Amino acid sequence: MKKILISLILLICGQFVCAAEVNIYSARKEALIKPILDRFTTETGIKVNLITGKADTFIKRIEVEGKNTPADILLTVDAARLVRAKDKELFQSIDSKILSSVIPAHLRDIDNHWFGLSLRSRVIVYNPDKVSSNDIIGYIDLANDKWKGRICVRSSSNIYNQSLVASLIAHHGIMETERWASKLVTNFARTPKGGDRDQIKAVVAGVCDLAIVNNYYLAGMLDSNKDEEVAAAEKVKLFWPDQDTYGAHFNVSGAGILKYAKNKDEAIKLLEYLVTIEAQQWYSDVNYEYPVILDVKISSILKKWGAFSMDTLALNLLGRYNSDAVKLMDRVGWK
Ligand code: FE
Repeated sequence: MKKILISLILLICGQFVCAAEVNIYSARKEALIKPILDRFTTETGIKVNLITGKADTFIKRIEVEGKNTPADILLTVDAARLVRAKDKELFQSIDSKILSSVIPAHLRDIDNHWFGLSLRSRVIVYNPDKVSSNDIIGYIDLANDKWKGRICVRSSSNIYNQSLVASLIAHHGIMETERWASKLVTNFARTPKGGDRDQIKAVVAGVCDLAIVNNYYLAGMLDSNKDEEVAAAEKVKLFWPDQDTYGAHFNVSGAGILKYAKNKDEAIKLLEYLVTIEAQQWYSDVNYEYPVILDVKISSILKKWGAFSMDTLALNLLGRYNSDAVKLMDRVGWK
């Protein structure tokens, strides 16, 4: 009888069926997440299957797959898309003492549907030969006439810009933010094009005097193995916006566990692992992002940029005001 039972278990429980695993749909590129997932597998024995792609494509796919989705976790690089997934009722509420105690409240969903896992700031990068740091204040001041034809920024279709504008709507309201944005676009040095690294390169090339970019793109260039990227990055400086008011705009990479996750326990273990000191330090060292938890040593490049004050706006507002931000940017002609 015992023999039959064991053979039955072996039959049903092939290596892949019974091995603990967790499946992720990730909008974060493989190189920027896989190494830390491998460490998680080594430490826990839980296999991680990673599929990378675009967040909105995954959101549609999860909706279509419904109960049959193979995914347990959706990982994105912006809070607005996590809010979008929550609004479509794709996530479930997760009761984890670790996640809700170590991640500050403004960086996670109020119903514990998603959690911020690493921090990135949208900063100002400037050419010190053309601009004095004393002349820069922050986002709102970029609409000032003194910046006419001097600013580079990528297009309004980019979620980082949408989230920045959404944060300004949360602070100043739609009308004031629209007035600001309509003046800002007249200060653009060129029609928006390229990614954040291209904006930094445009500052170096003299196309513009300053640019709005995410901090880790500059750090990646400074730490690049291409000499010309390092040389370019060293010609610009980073400015922390709005330090006397609400602080620099921050966004998160983050994740939620899907409503129909088949491996919920493993998925919780993975998210909890991603907020350990070890994983948070990895985010800082490899991706040049800031930790969401306290007491983590940050990489030397981040350290050089010094202390800053961070906007502590609840990040669910980036999702709530996303469509207002998109429409507003369209109305003012932000290409
Ligand atoms: Fe990015």
